[in-house]
Amino acid sequence: MIIGVLGCMAQNLKNDLLKNKPYVDIILGPDSYRNLPQLMNRHMVEQNSIVDTKLSRYEVYEDLFPKRNKGVNAWVSIMRGCDKFCSFCIVPFTRGRERSRSVESIVTEVRKAVDQGFVEITLLGQNVNSYKHEKNSFADLLLSVSDIDGVKRIRYTSPHPQDINVELLEVMASRKNICNYVHFPMQSGSNEILQRMNRTYTREHFHYMADTIREIMPNCGLSTDIIVGFPGETEKHFEETLDLMEKIKFNSAFTFKYSPRPYTKAEQFTDQIDETIKKERLDKLINVQRKHTLELNSKKIGKIENVLIEKESKKSSNHWAGRTDSNEWVILEKNSSKIKDIIPVEIVDATGVILHGKKMVEA
Ligand code: SF4
Repeated sequence: MIIGVLGCMAQNLKNDLLKNKPYVDIILGPDSYRNLPQLMNRHMVEQNSIVDTKLSRYEVYEDLFPKRNKGVNAWVSIMRGCDKFCSFCIVPFTRGRERSRSVESIVTEVRKAVDQGFVEITLLGQNVNSYKHEKNSFADLLLSVSDIDGVKRIRYTSPHPQDINVELLEVMASRKNICNYVHFPMQSGSNEILQRMNRTYTREHFHYMADTIREIMPNCGLSTDIIVGFPGETEKHFEETLDLMEKIKFNSAFTFKYSPRPYTKAEQFTDQIDETIKKERLDKLINVQRKHTLELNSKKIGKIENVLIEKESKKSSNHWAGRTDSNEWVILEKNSSKIKDIIPVEIVDATGVILHGKKMVEA
């Protein structure tokens, strides 16, 4: 047996692995997968630990298409790396600089996925909307993927607010199969903290863009990421975050207590926040978000939503689970429809993050 640790955490923890885990045979960074067969052969001959964690400026695995099992959604990687250098994040050091695959190679992979029966495509990248290949922007890529027959829905993650622009939003609004959903990571509502995080936008610009998204894409689902307890975050800074949440009202949020990542700038900050305070702030934030989610979901009661049926509900074999265009999960009674169908569903109830659609309206 050969034990290998592969990917960006191997990149990040290689020294620790070499020192403390002598039984690991191969340590491979995210840009070295092509070397795996040769390195395995070399290990068999040399019988020592082999490390290859060189980051590449070019590697995008353009010609290597992943093997996929059956499913509804296919994840398609379109770019790698990140040039943004948020002060809390290790990604630029473990994934290297931004580089993108060609439109042609992405379209070929999406066509293959559709031929295998996938109907939803999620475009993936550490900084997905800073995609750029030759003259093609992320908006151009979305149009090309949207044109592929059989692609019922397109989503993408994770974007950076700096790269959300009117051109992209107009393209999203213009195509039925591009989902009416934007993940819009705020991280903090305080300009001082945003600057310390090196997030490159202000709370005013972020608020303006959130309004612009909803103006160009009415009823757009908006989710976010928020970190509480970032070094130096005072009660006033935290209140500014709550205030911006109140103003924007996200449909959902991924919320985190700040935790230092080795080798990042934020880890060096001397004004780290006490764990108890972080926990209190996180609890408060989660309660605010729960209130907003329920409020926005309740407004959907009585409305018809197009739901892509994705699987059987975990709680009941008599129910389907699927998602709306704007990314809310809906539970509905089973009927003549099948997994991968998009059907109009009347929303009859909202409980927290889940919508319920008891009554089907046949298309
Ligand atoms: S948080 Fe996102 S944008 Fe910031 S450095 Fe990490 S990957 Fe890049």
